[in-house]
Amino acid sequence: MANTVKAEVVVLGGGPGGYSAAFRAADLGKQVVLIERGTCLGGVCLNVGCIPSKALLHAAGVINEAEASAECGISFAKPKVDIEQLRSWKDGIVSKLTAGLATLAKRRKVEVIYGVGEFVGANKIAVRGEDETVVEFERAIIAAGSEPVSLPFMPDDLRIINSTGALALESVPKKMLIIGGGIIGLEMATVYAALGSEITIVEFMEQLIPGADLDLVKPLARSLKSKTNNIMLKTKVIAVTAKDDGLYVDFEGENAPEGQLVFDKILVAVGRKPNGKSIAAEKAGINVDERGFITVDEQLKTNIENVYAIGDIIGNPMLAHKAVHEGCMVAEIIAGEKVAHQAKCIPSVAYTDPEISWVGLTENMAQEQSINFEKGSFPWMACGRALSMGRSEGMTKLLFDPKTEKLLGAGIVGPNAGEMIAELVLAIEKGCTASDIANTIHPHPTLSETVMMSAEAFLGTMTDLYMPKRR
Ligand code: NAD
Repeated sequence: MANTVKAEVVVLGGGPGGYSAAFRAADLGKQVVLIERGTCLGGVCLNVGCIPSKALLHAAGVINEAEASAECGISFAKPKVDIEQLRSWKDGIVSKLTAGLATLAKRRKVEVIYGVGEFVGANKIAVRGEDETVVEFERAIIAAGSEPVSLPFMPDDLRIINSTGALALESVPKKMLIIGGGIIGLEMATVYAALGSEITIVEFMEQLIPGADLDLVKPLARSLKSKTNNIMLKTKVIAVTAKDDGLYVDFEGENAPEGQLVFDKILVAVGRKPNGKSIAAEKAGINVDERGFITVDEQLKTNIENVYAIGDIIGNPMLAHKAVHEGCMVAEIIAGEKVAHQAKCIPSVAYTDPEISWVGLTENMAQEQSINFEKGSFPWMACGRALSMGRSEGMTKLLFDPKTEKLLGAGIVGPNAGEMIAELVLAIEKGCTASDIANTIHPHPTLSETVMMSAEAFLGTMTDLYMPKRR
């Protein structure tokens, strides 16, 4: 017989969106049950995504920096990588954070039930874990996330992995093929290339990270070109044959090689798909579209009055910081606060080397949607701090509304681009103009000055470069 648990609020999924929603709802006085199918909280992001990848990218950065320091007269011997130690260091970071979440849940009296949850009625979710539990809820928040897309023609072979397999870091393959030149593919290319794998990347579209402007991607593409064996754009994999001595791959497209190439490992990083079809949503009458997304209104309510949904499962961009924002907001709505989804923009970051970040309007979007803009940009070649780091390849650009001079969008490529973008997210949220940014005193010497100088470039007031006055 299943146990029955009652919940004022049940949250299905314990990733960043789900646990944030649960914790916020509990802080606002609700009695909360949180269902998680894994063995600890944190979801993909903490366990097999953002955090372990950043740990490995840090290690890759150390290796790359040690190598690059030869240019300033400091040479190190070739690094010895103890893969087991690296893996356990990475796992230790994840465990510290997941243990912290378990403590936070306990302190808030959020009851966590581990097991796979599925709707079994309008107000019921059954959880199959060690025991079977039925949660009878007043309100539900679906935060069940997404999973990697797989390619249908791939053979069932342990040497073919997705992002979870890549982050498990079981071994460092000699020759690795990465299918998909998006954020996951390129972050993993950065890690495995630094660890010594010979990397080949195949990307279907005509540029890497197709969502970002080409001028931001170019410095990264140059850097990856020097660290990888081959990058094939406008090309795809059409067949893979698993043999004892390797994975034999056939390609098709503009840059496809003649004949097969052979690899020790293949990472498939061709996107993620929502988990909307795996929670039996139909049993509660919740609409799920054919791709698995759940449609919500601006208060993130589904077609069912007492059921909300947040994060990857409601649409792109599939980013943890978006899910967290939505989770907290839904908790506040459920607690009776009058709030709605009003974020003007959501930043994106590729934690590659160099990093790429962007927010708001991109030049590609402006062109597609015929949006008028004027640009101010600053090459890091003229930034003292960038040069003193040996990193002159970066660039900062700001897109402004020509009439109001308000910031519409921003893009940065270079080390720390991911940290720097936050200032511009705030600027867009607060409706800042070029003068607001240019007249804000930025510390010298920093990379952040390039933000101020890009605004000056737009206004024609810059002294650090000679740009004829334009207004
Ligand atoms: P993605 O959509 O960013 O990139 C997938 C890439 O694969 C695209 O460039 C696409 O054109 C290409 N592709 C698709 N099918 C292909 C094929 N058959 N052959 C060759 N190329 C093909 O997806 P991702 O990199 O897997 O990331 C998944 C999601 O996770 C994204 O929503 C991303 O934003 C998110 N994510 C974010 C971060 C971060 O914020 N730093 C990190 C990792 C993942």
